[in-house]
Amino acid sequence: MQHSTLTMPRADNFSETGWQSVLAGAVRDPAELCRLLGLPATLAAEAARAARQFPLRVPRPYLARIRPGDPGDPLLAQVLPTREEQADCPHFVRDPLGEAADACPAGLLRKYKRRVLILASGACGVHCRFCFRRHFPHRDAKNSFAEALARIAADESIEEVILSGGDPLVLSDRRLAELAGQLAEIPHLRRLRLHTRLPIVIPQRVTESLVAWLRGTRLAPWVVVHVNHPAELDAAVAAALGRLIDAGIPVLNQAVLLAGVNDRADVLADLCRRLADLRVMPYYLHQLDRVAGAAHFEVPEARGIQLVAALRAQLPGYAVPRYVRDRRGAASKQVLA
Ligand SMILES: *Cc1c(COP(=O)(O)O)cnc(C)c1O
Ligand code: SF4
Repeated sequence: MQHSTLTMPRADNFSETGWQSVLAGAVRDPAELCRLLGLPATLAAEAARAARQFPLRVPRPYLARIRPGDPGDPLLAQVLPTREEQADCPHFVRDPLGEAADACPAGLLRKYKRRVLILASGACGVHCRFCFRRHFPHRDAKNSFAEALARIAADESIEEVILSGGDPLVLSDRRLAELAGQLAEIPHLRRLRLHTRLPIVIPQRVTESLVAWLRGTRLAPWVVVHVNHPAELDAAVAAALGRLIDAGIPVLNQAVLLAGVNDRADVLADLCRRLADLRVMPYYLHQLDRVAGAAHFEVPEARGIQLVAALRAQLPGYAVPRYVRDRRGAASKQVLA
């Protein structure tokens, strides 16, 4: 048997085991993070204390985009636990959207008409310090989806399923392809949406098999990624997003407005412009959900409205995201600008 060297090179890290080992090899020790980035040990000690609430987790492809020696780096700010997380702020609570109460045991979250969210996994590729589900009591991801599938099948008003989490793409393509196949058998479903940050933090996750099962389903696939700062978009991420888009899968971005990360008109405009260059539509700019430990990331809504006006003045209409906030019990996200 001959091993052909003429076929397309398939780097090891484009295979399933490639991204899984990158996922498993994420930095979890604050001291190691600070050592790798040339940051003072005092920051590491502070991070170790704050990480007790919600552990540090930074995959190496994301780490490589952080400027060494710069404690103010906007990517570092998204992942490094700080003392401010321990501040007690009255309006910042563990479950700001009341999701734990809404979630049924099958891991389904049904808030809006015609769409249902499956919390497909409790795990993520990265731990974002501002995450609104940072205290979420995720069920064991090993559970089967049988009950969720049965509930969706029983409700003909549902036309779109959103795989969320955590990050659904921490699951294997085999498992996801099986789930997509089972969803496609439910006749009233029309679309399958993925909410994921993995193509950004571990671009190797966009494998041929991922593209294949997303394209292979009868359901119209939509992928919504999560990028907050233009420095998150390096060449590998651009290529990963290109693999999805070239396959005909629309990709949208949602960002969170974050103090010290992207609360400047030039940074946001650069982000939207680069997304547009990559053919990714800036979909939402979220007002921060008031989750305990994230108060220091909040930007006043009046400032957010000004920022979006500044974007509108310099970008094509399709490159301006809707500035929204989520509210408990509302029928949709509320558009602020
Ligand atoms: C945001 C969200 C959705 C999707 O809303 P779209 O406006 O369609 O993007 C669905 N379910 C929940 C619980 C959500 O928070
Ligand atoms: S990837 Fe999304 S769900 Fe996971 S920690 Fe970040 S914001 Fe939260």
